[in-house]
Amino acid sequence: MKMSKFYVPTLREVPAEAELISHQLLLRAGMIRKLVSGVYTYLPLSVRVLKKIETIVREEMDAIDSQECLMSALCPSELWKETGRWDDFGPEMFRLHDRHNREFCLGPTHEEVFTNLIRHELKSYKQLPLSLYQIQTKFRDEKRPRFGLMRGREFTMKDAYTFDKDEEGMKVAYQQMWEAYEKVFNRCGLNFKIVEGDSGAMGGSDSHEFIAMSEVGETQIAYCTSCDYAATDEKAACKYDIHSDETVQNMEKVSTPQVKTIDELVAFFNVSADTFVKTLIFKAKEDVVAVLIPGNRELNELKLFKHLGVQEHDFEIADEATVKEVTNAEVGFAGPIGLKIRILVDERVPKMRNVIIGANETDFHFKNANYGVDFQGEVVGDLLMIEASDACPKCGGKIEMDRGNEVGNIFQLGTKYSKALNATFLDENGKEQLIVMGSHGIGVSRTLAAIIEQYNDENGIIWPLSVAPFHVIITVVNSKKEEQQALGEKLYHDLKAKGLEVLLDDRNERAGVKFKDAELIGIPIRINVGREAEENIVEVKMRRGGDVLNIKTDEIMSVIEKEFEFQNVSL
Ligand code: ATP
Ligand code: MG
Repeated sequence: MKMSKFYVPTLREVPAEAELISHQLLLRAGMIRKLVSGVYTYLPLSVRVLKKIETIVREEMDAIDSQECLMSALCPSELWKETGRWDDFGPEMFRLHDRHNREFCLGPTHEEVFTNLIRHELKSYKQLPLSLYQIQTKFRDEKRPRFGLMRGREFTMKDAYTFDKDEEGMKVAYQQMWEAYEKVFNRCGLNFKIVEGDSGAMGGSDSHEFIAMSEVGETQIAYCTSCDYAATDEKAACKYDIHSDETVQNMEKVSTPQVKTIDELVAFFNVSADTFVKTLIFKAKEDVVAVLIPGNRELNELKLFKHLGVQEHDFEIADEATVKEVTNAEVGFAGPIGLKIRILVDERVPKMRNVIIGANETDFHFKNANYGVDFQGEVVGDLLMIEASDACPKCGGKIEMDRGNEVGNIFQLGTKYSKALNATFLDENGKEQLIVMGSHGIGVSRTLAAIIEQYNDENGIIWPLSVAPFHVIITVVNSKKEEQQALGEKLYHDLKAKGLEVLLDDRNERAGVKFKDAELIGIPIRINVGREAEENIVEVKMRRGGDVLNIKTDEIMSVIEKEFEFQNVSL
């Protein structure tokens, strides 16, 4: 491709709307443009990268005998009603009607549609195991679409579904996907960790997430410094424990004018945050509930959802009016005593002694309050978010925290969908059995963004060769000089003939502009054809760094081959 014809509208300025580096660079490198919040137009350069990632995914799926299908994004509501997810998905699902007023959604994921296909086609154990996948556009009306391609409302996903006759088969399929995903993300050049995930709205038992590491990633993970334990913060059991041998004292009411937050209370009472019990008030569906946790810790909402049996979209922090109504006090003075609503208690609270709690009266707290003596509730186990320095739930070692973006996940679904949709087969004894399923996603467009997050510098993107939109960029330094233009053209044709993907910057632009663009769009191998063109000498430089080589044109191929070898990519 010649730059003079190629549509790459690069931008010099950092767009104000973009916080994340990948989002900024995708816009600046002329790869995407926003259509509307969370919905993007992919320009030629990003389409090339997406296709590269898709090819890697396809090759690794095909290698484990998963077979590509393509389902419609337009899905009838009936299937989703059969599994209950028409309601469970809540506002994240894009819904629409046809001219006959029949309800549809734009598929946010396709368990229902694949299971529906199979239930009508598959009859016998002889047809199992089966693994199908698609690479397709998904639609989710995300609460907070943001960070460019990281969290869009329309995005490209690879979703695979495995069908087995028993749990054991499902686990084999799970392991195969695990290994295929490792290959995919390694080939994309990503630095990633595999962590235990929560199965959330997907249902089922085991699940793992593939997290591309990034300091500013949306997902926080906890990992053990002594063993192989790693999980998303939401999923991780929290091993924080409390031992107090203080003697129980008499509770006292204390005037705390305008002292509301934990920080203000810590300063006012001059004690540490673990002397407090926080009373948090939430709305869960039609109910208002209170939650008690140690004052120095954060609530893990996911653990609470499970106890309450609600979905995330049915849950919110109570507004000021509700807090006032249930506590008879201003916000900041809520406590468990006298509350007429359900009170869920983290398992550590009963072990705490002589704590400070809100008094449900504006400007007052109680000190020396004790669970079982002065207040109580429903103790529901662990409700805390894991933190660095907690003990590892597996081996007791030290936990550390890190961040990243979830680029893929694998789920053992079991029979959740086959049961709901009655997808069965006849086993060896002619007995009808439920198909045992797995569901396995890769965020293809998110992967593209995650790669940029890991591969960039102050000048732009640094594509790994495996996913680069082009392997080589040839910059004609002064396109008015005939010999430079001619050599540029010749190299362009020669390298293309060798099977390389080459971009020729033949534009009648200043050298500085061309170099800046080449850096910004991040093509891995750069050849500058300049002053020494007449002697057949060019400059070769790798975008990832290293020395600038001044070499004869007949040495170019060996330099390129070495770079492919170095990056472990076959030419
Ligand atoms: P998240 O926790 O980030 O919302 P999820 O658990 O909802 O992800 P899945 O339903 O498992 O995600 O989807 C499979 C993959 O699709 C994810 O691993 C992720 O890479 C990608 N993905 C999910 N939501 C989005 C989105 N809004 N934009 C881009 N990619 C997404
Ligand atoms: Mg999600």
